[in-house]
Amino acid sequence: MTRWTLPPDRIPSAWYNVLPRFETPMDPPLHPGTRQPIGPDDLAPLFPMGLILQEVSSDPWIDIPGDVLDILRLWRPTPLVRAVRLEQALGTPARIYFKDESVSPAGSHKPNTAVPQAYYNKVEGITRLTTETGAGQWGTALSFACAQFDMDCLVYMVRTSFESKPYRKIMMQTWGAQCVPSPVDDPSHPGSLGSAITDAVRDAVGRDDTHYALGSVLNHVLLHQTVIGLEAREQLELAGERLPDVVIAPCGGGSNLGGVALPFYEDPSVRLVAVEPSSCPTLTEGRFEYDFGDTGGMTPLLPMYTLGHDFIPPTIHAGGLRYHGDAPIVSKLVHDGRMEAVAYPQGKVFEAALLFARAEGKIPAPEAAHGIRAAIDEALAAKETGEEKVILFNYCGHGHLDLQAYDDYLSGRLMD
Ligand SMILES: *Cc1c(COP(=O)(O)O)cnc(C)c1O
Repeated sequence: MTRWTLPPDRIPSAWYNVLPRFETPMDPPLHPGTRQPIGPDDLAPLFPMGLILQEVSSDPWIDIPGDVLDILRLWRPTPLVRAVRLEQALGTPARIYFKDESVSPAGSHKPNTAVPQAYYNKVEGITRLTTETGAGQWGTALSFACAQFDMDCLVYMVRTSFESKPYRKIMMQTWGAQCVPSPVDDPSHPGSLGSAITDAVRDAVGRDDTHYALGSVLNHVLLHQTVIGLEAREQLELAGERLPDVVIAPCGGGSNLGGVALPFYEDPSVRLVAVEPSSCPTLTEGRFEYDFGDTGGMTPLLPMYTLGHDFIPPTIHAGGLRYHGDAPIVSKLVHDGRMEAVAYPQGKVFEAALLFARAEGKIPAPEAAHGIRAAIDEALAAKETGEEKVILFNYCGHGHLDLQAYDDYLSGRLMD
């Protein structure tokens, strides 16, 4: 057996909320103007109350609405796969498992939160959502979710990606959304996630029928992603494993990492590892302090590791990992010493991507390849020590729309 699937009725019925389980409380977000802690009313122009309450909820479990489950069941539960051929290629005694989130309609983990976000907006009478997108994964996920709920969707896409990566834009349009390059007011600017957030927030606060949706970073986003780790726990048991020794995921804003790792938070023997690009080393080289989520300083100040909200990351291919900050939950875990962080240059990441693709067949998204790099290094370390380590990583997306990056790597044009 190398693959464990769960029947559709075994999809988790509640999300795992880590907030009430922390020993020390999270620092609150602060108002960008007054620098005082913000309340639900401050967020109401942007988000529906259903999500605002989840952002601060102290319930250890939050029920997933039936209408959301019906849509998640289009592709969930996702498979847990043992990468036996990769283990053999490495000659490691470690057992390497990955959770395959690439099977969603958008090809990544992001629809796990796009669907509930669209749902909570819809039930509160909102008919239009705006958002930002980097390489386009979040934009496609929200476009798909809005199509399911018959809502309008406008996606501000980081300009460099808008120009160099047309296919996700076409997916968004296929699902009925509109996609424009950002920053909207400066056509010569390459853009960044931070500036695209500014555009999307400004649009949403200006209209009563419109809210804003964020694809990562916030507590409710990580909450929605916990279906990944909850399913993985059950599947690992089916595979005859007790617990993994280490759980690994790439970290851009922290949502797929939170999703796979948080359900293991209360198992102290399980190491949790965040992987980031050395060109945008938020957790490994950033400062832990309050910073804005966007470039324009319109969002609340969040307590997080940050490279500074005006940091413009180099245009590396893993567009989803080019964010100046990180989820406050992930930042707290790293700051408290519960989670480790490592950074890799692109060349090492693509080397791992090719090794994985040639062994397992699947071509990973460059973001996912960061996690694969770390998983391979864990497996090679286990080979040194002879340990039968159990490694779980999140295969957060496929790379079928990132083939330009592979072409660059294969023809030696890729810069570290
Ligand atoms: C968006 C994205 C990421 C980064 O976002 P997180 O919130 O850190 O998960 C990573 N991988 C893929 C495939 C993505 O689409």
